[in-house]
Amino acid sequence: MTQCIGFIGIGIMGEAMAANILKHGHSLVVYNRSSEKTDALREKGALVAGKPSLVADAADVIILMLTGEEAVDAVLHGEDGLLAGECADKVVINMSTVPAHCSRAWAALLAENGATLIDAPVSGSKIPAELGELVILAGGLEEVVHEQEPLLLCMGKRVIYCGPIGSGSSMKLSINLLLGIMMEGLAEAVHLAESSGLATETLLDAISAGPLACTLFQLKEQMLKTGSYPPQFPFRHMAKDMQFVLAAAEENGTHLPLGSELAKLYSPAADASLMDLDFAAVKTLLRHHESPVASEKSKE
Ligand code: NAP
Repeated sequence: MTQCIGFIGIGIMGEAMAANILKHGHSLVVYNRSSEKTDALREKGALVAGKPSLVADAADVIILMLTGEEAVDAVLHGEDGLLAGECADKVVINMSTVPAHCSRAWAALLAENGATLIDAPVSGSKIPAELGELVILAGGLEEVVHEQEPLLLCMGKRVIYCGPIGSGSSMKLSINLLLGIMMEGLAEAVHLAESSGLATETLLDAISAGPLACTLFQLKEQMLKTGSYPPQFPFRHMAKDMQFVLAAAEENGTHLPLGSELAKLYSPAADASLMDLDFAAVKTLLRHHESPVASEKSKE
């Protein structure tokens, strides 16, 4: 069954995900704060709304793919906000990465307006989003998630039901903790190899030939070889997510020795020039902490 889908947040991920919904034959109405980012989708057949409340009026199901907590609040509230539109009996799917407590609070707020929230953040970045191969981590009423699965599968290759509302958000933070640790692990391995006089290409080839080969490392290979980090998953998002990870760990009393160290690297206070690069640019921070011996060696 095709429905009218509303999509709010046409950023790196949102643009690709919304384009895949169109490809599956749904009619689509989109909104983005910076309106020029909706141009390409308009050309592909989407309607563009001038404010979030109009998306609520037009759509049967509304998807949010925004930076985080503040952005979702900004879109929900105010005289032009989603809640000012026709929300009764609609399903809102928040696919942005946010803390679980936000998902629970928004679910209660939307329920007061007659709508049902699913939290469905995604694993996978720009390229899987373009290919429609995201892994979608869904929380909320199981029957509602099940009902929305055909729509979610326009954007992803698998929907994993994680539990009640907030569970998708919690699952995403656990996965991003592992993602951050793996990226930092690869960056340190490359850094050590380079400072030992080895070629980066040879190390990456050796990794990909053995049991440590994985898609993440393949995706970052070119960036590490060239030292150029065009954003797929921006550093600023990983810095945001690590703050959410630390807050969740504190709330649950969870000990995360590596996570705590990682949050010092992926920090919103890190060098501003890193924020819009891919999170693989964490490797560039290693140079800042080199001992005099390493600095001399790198000049040789
Ligand atoms: P992005 O390119 O930075 O896009 C963010 C979107 O949020 C833009 O549409 C932006 O609008 C909107 N926004 C931000 N603040 C807003 C506000 N106050 N009011 C209204 N709209 C606002 O981010 P992205 O990479 O697509 O990521 C979106 C979400 O997916 C994030 O939660 C991220 O953590 C998560 N995620 C990203 C990746 C990835 O690889 N990129 C992977 C998995 C999950 P403007 O265009 O006007 O700024």
